[in-house]
Amino acid sequence: MDDRTFRNAMGKFATGVTVITTALNGEVRGMTANAFMSVSLDPKLILISIGEKAKMNEIIKQTGKFTVNILSEEQQDLSMLFAGQLKEKQNVTFDWVGDQPVLPNSLANILCDVYNTHVAGDHTLYIGKVTDIYMKDGDPLLFFEGKYRNLASHANAG
Ligand code: FAD
Ligand code: NAD
Repeated sequence: MDDRTFRNAMGKFATGVTVITTALNGEVRGMTANAFMSVSLDPKLILISIGEKAKMNEIIKQTGKFTVNILSEEQQDLSMLFAGQLKEKQNVTFDWVGDQPVLPNSLANILCDVYNTHVAGDHTLYIGKVTDIYMKDGDPLLFFEGKYRNLASHANAG
């Protein structure tokens, strides 16, 4: 099977979009990720999957912590920035919870300690133990068939 067929099939699974953030010696790194799921209620665990080439891998290994910021429909520019899809670099202002950077105006900031890791092919799965959560009301940014969507565009299409 070729890669395009696999990606097209995975793209049929509509997801939200997150930016994973962490900070090493006060320097913040962010990376867009849609491979995110809830895993366990007791203890409270979530999972993210990060490609082996992503610089974020080395940084999380050192910090042992990360935050999953669930993006709102107003934050597509941040998704593109942290996926390396914008030509120009931008300065982003983060809020801080202790030593952890979080993206303001996200639908949720889910703070985690690394609980377990598992190398799976060309990605590493990070299971995070949730230590703190902040939430806001709003509509989500969506990703479907390789394109950004929102709930309103879906309603209009229907
Ligand atoms: P870099 O390429 O170094 O960083 C990414 C970008 O963020 C760069 O442009 C950098 O300048 C910018 N940046 C980082 N920190 C800051 C900061 N503090 N201030 C301002 N800018 C900053 N990949 C996965 O492995 N797993 C996934 O689940 C996943 N899901 C994705 C979902 C979507 C919708 C998209 C579009 C991409 C997804 N990717 C995923 C791909 C991933 O986002 C990119 O490959 C990413 O560029 C890899 O990041 P990196 O750690 O190598 O960091
Ligand atoms: P796309 O058509 O590549 O993505 C559709 C779906 O395929 C994604 O939602 C994801 O489930 C899957 N996918 C894509 N690349 C993957 C990878 N390297 N490993 C595992 N699953 C993958 O959409 P696009 O607009 O071309 O994506 C933009 C960029 O972001 C591409 O470079 C893509 O590889 C990357 N991306 C990576 C992941 C990931 O690593 N899990 C997820 C989404 C997008």
